[in-house]
Amino acid sequence: MMRYRALNAYLRERFGRKIYKLALDAGMTCPNRDGTLGTRGCIFCSHGGSGEFAVGQRETLAMQMEEARRIVSAKAKNAGYIAYFQSFTNTYAPVETLEALYRAAMEPDDVVALSIATRPDCIPEEVLRLLCRLNTWKPVWVELGLQTIHPASAAYIRRGYPLSCYEACVKRLRASGIEVITHMILGLPMETPRMMYETAAYIGQSGVQGIKLQLLHVLRDADLASDYQAGIFPTLTLEKYAELLGGCIRRLPEDLVIHRLTGDGAKKNLIAPLWSADKKWVLHAIHTYFEREDVRQGALFQKIL
Ligand code: SF4
Repeated sequence: MMRYRALNAYLRERFGRKIYKLALDAGMTCPNRDGTLGTRGCIFCSHGGSGEFAVGQRETLAMQMEEARRIVSAKAKNAGYIAYFQSFTNTYAPVETLEALYRAAMEPDDVVALSIATRPDCIPEEVLRLLCRLNTWKPVWVELGLQTIHPASAAYIRRGYPLSCYEACVKRLRASGIEVITHMILGLPMETPRMMYETAAYIGQSGVQGIKLQLLHVLRDADLASDYQAGIFPTLTLEKYAELLGGCIRRLPEDLVIHRLTGDGAKKNLIAPLWSADKKWVLHAIHTYFEREDVRQGALFQKIL
């Protein structure tokens, strides 16, 4: 029984073959690091800009794509790819630079879509128009790191923009036909289960097509590490995480694609929770919990907006 709308099944349905992501590093920075809004970054973000799995950092795009393909093609023949700009804020450059970068990534025949991780305060009109043009060629997806709807948590993590900015951005992207995937972190300090469920329910109502649910990781090179080490907050247990995930998934609409149930924290930098390093085992435990507790996406979804 399908308990939630998983990304892999959705991709196969949409593109008719196995699709992999090519995680690419465009060599960007972000306003939370370059001094525009701050220099320390979001409190949970590592020096890699939340993109530890981008290959061949700072190599040319072509080299990165070749390397990523080499890793993946051992797993599947005739696969398709999503060119995924993951690290930092991937719309944070002059539009001409972005156009050259995106076009180069989308050019190969086996690249079926472009996915761009960014912030809602970093998509000016000319970039939106570019995304719109490219979206008529191949699907363009934009990933937004919302993480929470709660202002106190947003201030604590130093997100740097208000919820109204996210709302306006989603409206503009959707009006232009761009698909949106929103990131949410479970286990932020001082957040109760109810607060997390409110964030999930809100994202489900916000008109986006996908969600990435992620456990709060404490990484060695992120500022969050000092608060964790000072005992200001605990990280989640696997049991609690599975329960919270189940609660979120029940509150999401049935057709929302679940891109991720847990993150890929960089193991070498991971301080806590250490159980999260074994992703296969974690996913197995989550699925076992979903079976046992009869978790079904949409079971508690209520359309209120
Ligand atoms: S999470 Fe994104 S916006 Fe925040 S510091 Fe890292 S790269 Fe910048």
